[in-house]
Parts: sequence; C-alpha cells; structure tokens
Amino acid sequence: MAFVALPYEVGPIRPPSEAASLLIRVTRNCPWNKCEFCPTYKGARFERRPLEDVLQDIDRAADYHGDIFQTAFIQDANSLVLKTDELVQVLNRLKERFPSVRRVTSYARARTVARKSLEELRQLHEAGLSRLHIGLESGYDPLLEYMNKGVTADLVIEGGKKVVESGISLCLYVVLGLGGGLRLEGEETWRNHALHTARVLNEINPDYIRVRTLTIKQGMPLYEKLVSGEFEESSGAEKVREERLLIQSLEVTSYFASDHSTNILMDIRGQLPQDKEAMLSTMDRYLELTEGEQLNFRLGTLFSYFGYEPNYRSFSEFSVPARREAVTTVIEQLEQEEPGKARRLAAELNRMLI
Ligand code: SF4
Repeated sequence: MAFVALPYEVGPIRPPSEAASLLIRVTRNCPWNKCEFCPTYKGARFERRPLEDVLQDIDRAADYHGDIFQTAFIQDANSLVLKTDELVQVLNRLKERFPSVRRVTSYARARTVARKSLEELRQLHEAGLSRLHIGLESGYDPLLEYMNKGVTADLVIEGGKKVVESGISLCLYVVLGLGGGLRLEGEETWRNHALHTARVLNEINPDYIRVRTLTIKQGMPLYEKLVSGEFEESSGAEKVREERLLIQSLEVTSYFASDHSTNILMDIRGQLPQDKEAMLSTMDRYLELTEGEQLNFRLGTLFSYFGYEPNYRSFSEFSVPARREAVTTVIEQLEQEEPGKARRLAAELNRMLI
C-alpha cells in the first residue's frame, strides 16, 4: 500500500485507541528520553514546534480532510510541556476547524502534570482536553529509579489526583514484567512492583488502567543489561502471576484493559470491581497450564498477530480441541526440525511486535 504524504506534520506514535484520530503534533520527541525500557525517541532531539506552525497545521488538516474526525490526539510524548495558554489556543483552533471532534487526548509525563496547577488543568479541560494518557509503569520507587523513569510514586499520585479532580479523564499505563528477575532492596521485585503499583492506582483511581508487557529490543538501554546478564526477563507465567497480584490488590472503579499484543492474556479486561473475579479466574486457568501448554498458547496467539494459521485470537479459543491440536502439530514439526525451535520462534515473534 502506498502512503499518501499529508500536508501537515505527524509524529511516530499514538495509543492504539487513537487509531482513527486526527493527529496534531505540537512537540517533537520526548523531553525526558531516558527511560531504560523505551526505544521510541532514542537519538532524537526534543523540540517544541512554534505555535504558528501548529495552528497552520490544524488549518491545513481541516482544508485537506474536512470535518470528518470525531477524535483527535495531540503528539508527541509530553504535550503538556507547552505553556497552558498556548495549548488552549491549539485546542480552540481544533474546535473551530473540526467542530465534529468530540474527544481530544494526549500523552503527558506525570512530573509535568504535577507542575501544572489545578486551575490550569481545569482551563485545559474547559478548552476541550478530554483525556490524558500517562505512563505510571510502576508504583515501586526503587524500580522507577532503576528504569530511570525520572518520577516517584508520590509525584504520580500528586499529578494523577489533580488530573482526576480537573475533570480530565485519566488513563494510566503499567508495564508487566518490568522488574524481571531483579531483587531490588533484597526482595523479589515483581511482588513489590505489583503491590506498590496497586497502591498508587488505588490512591488515584484513574478512569482507565492499561497494561503493556515488557519486551526488550535493541535500541532500549535495557537491552545492554539483558545482554550482559544484569537483567533477566521473567517468563510468561511469572508475568501473569504478577498481573494477578496487581488486580487482586486493586480497590478502584477503573476500567482495566489489556489491549496490547505484548500481553500474554488479552482477555483480561473489564470494569472494576465487578469484573475482578472473572479476570482472576481466567488468570488462574492460565496458571494451571503446563509449561508446554503455555508455550502452545503463546505461539498460537502470536501466529494470529502475524496472520499465520492455526492460531488463537483469545484464551477461550485455546479450549477448542481442534485448534489446540493443530498448534500442537506445528510445534511438533518445529521440534523435529531442531529441538527448542518453537520457544525460539515465540521469542523472535515477540520481539517483532510493535
Ligand atoms: S517512556 Fe515516555 S517519558 Fe520515558 S523516554 Fe519513553 S516517551 Fe519519554
């Protein structure tokens, strides 16, 4: 498929939930850019785009597309670094040129949000900013420090509570498996990661909690630590055990979503607290599987992302005997070619996920 060059500037990423949104770029790259687990903007310098250029882009987008969008996303990694009155001007121009847009969202860093006053956040909400996506990643301070996140749990609580109070909807992201096999402060990090993350989420009670699973790739500073043996990735079962402890410890009224292909169980989603038991029981069923069955499920799930057959599009499909047998046959063939090939293929496909 040929890409059509747009007459306005667009940044490299947006959340999956913004796939159909108008993208408006107010800054380039990330002003922090130091997180160990993040390859997105490495090597790229942060820049604020001149306000005039951004407003002109909105005009160009309106002339080019017409008023066809219902949602808009403001890029890149931390749009709230803009002065509040500048961002208000961007939101006003968006409203003026795209009257059908009903939702405007953006990524932001917790540190930047914490620096804004409640009054400023209310102003942004009134101007049309509907939702902020913020990477909490973990609520465990030693792990945040190890990953060079540049925030503390307290700072995220401060910023997050302010966002909720301002009326802006809040989506917080958590990285499953972030602690790997670490033993920070002499204790198993995965457990503290789950418990402290739940504590922070309970304090903030965001509208949405979204989980992503750590997948280490070249280009991340953490990759060097993986190669040197300093950092060890946790297994699929360990990640699900961690997710189980996290959900079990939540006392929120948030919507929990596991809508990312890096996650082992995409079926874990629902409104808390009412869907908690169903989510826990799905995870229990997964944790009862043998190692071979867990590999079978992961490989079959990965096949679905890459368009290979046979595959599983959900955990419930794993219970269909014919599907499971078909994936088992593929695994047996791979193992006959070379012992360990199925596990290596799963790891390779995992790294290819975006
Ligand atoms: S995770 Fe977010 S804050 Fe950290 S480097 Fe990546 S884009 Fe920047």
